[in-house]
Amino acid sequence: AKKSAPGTICFFEASDDRSARDRRALQRDLEHAIEADELFLVYQPFLDIRKGRVTGFEALLRWQHPTRGLIPPTVFIPIAEESGLIHQLGEWVIRRACTMLSRWPDDIRIAVNFSAVQFQNVGILQTIVDALAEANVAPNRLEIEITESMLISKYGSAPAILHALLELGLTVALDDFGTGFSSLTYLRKLPFSRIKIDQSFIRDMLTQPDCAAIVKSVIGLAQELRIGVVAEGVETADQLEYLRQTSCDEVQGYLIGRPMSGSEISALLDHNPQH
Ligand code: C2E
Ligand code: CA
Ligand code: CA
Ligand code: CA
Repeated sequence: AKKSAPGTICFFEASDDRSARDRRALQRDLEHAIEADELFLVYQPFLDIRKGRVTGFEALLRWQHPTRGLIPPTVFIPIAEESGLIHQLGEWVIRRACTMLSRWPDDIRIAVNFSAVQFQNVGILQTIVDALAEANVAPNRLEIEITESMLISKYGSAPAILHALLELGLTVALDDFGTGFSSLTYLRKLPFSRIKIDQSFIRDMLTQPDCAAIVKSVIGLAQELRIGVVAEGVETADQLEYLRQTSCDEVQGYLIGRPMSGSEISALLDHNPQH
């Protein structure tokens, strides 16, 4: 390590270079991840509080890197978005989700996460149509989760593609609700089926009265709009009880279930109560 002030600057530059190099290396590896069978989905359940049954799962992408181990999506999704690889990844996620849907009961849905960049690719519509047809799965069992930041991004075709998805019979959920700047505006513009209250609100609602007020209001808003509402990041029984009392429809979080493999899900569904 160098001691002088210029040396310090040098040190930071070197470390920036290293991380840029690291990103490039990861990007190169990611290019082969699909064919190398290193990507997989895990599934985290949605629990309908009133019915006491699992209504579906959110598909979350994982990358088992051959030497670096498990890489979280928060690391590789941004790299995929920057490089354009997200288009391939996103199509793979859709096809995989449809295959799983074909194995699971008809009243179970899967929600997949979408990146803003994917709205640049109108071809995604045909991919979805084909994947659903190949798996012989009803479109209303596939849900697309988008964040409001996607709608204010530079991708002008986002609303057009969203409307096309809705016309195909898919449902669309507004993810991380409350963390953006214009949530209410977008609720007016697009026929969302569901809003997902961001986990930061759920985490603090029992210790911060303001936070509880927001959660309650969002649940009330969803009811007025006649759309579903999911609380994300439910970790404690007290949080679940509060959400039950405030008439939240569905909950998701470590208390109900961690993201699981496809085979674990099949076992779980064998014990799922009927409607
Ligand atoms: P997200 O869509 O908001 O997903 C929720 C994240 O919270 C997941 O992290 C999930 O594992 C985690 N989580 C669930 N329950 C709890 C809980 O009770 N407590 C806490 N602390 N965390 C909980 P994960 O799987 O690491 O995913 C991170 C983000 O990566 C996702 O945030 C989503 O934006 C993105 N992502 C994941 N899969 C995909 C994908 O297939 N495509 C795209 N475009 N993005 C994806
Ligand atoms: Ca999500
Ligand atoms: Ca979320
Ligand atoms: Ca998030």
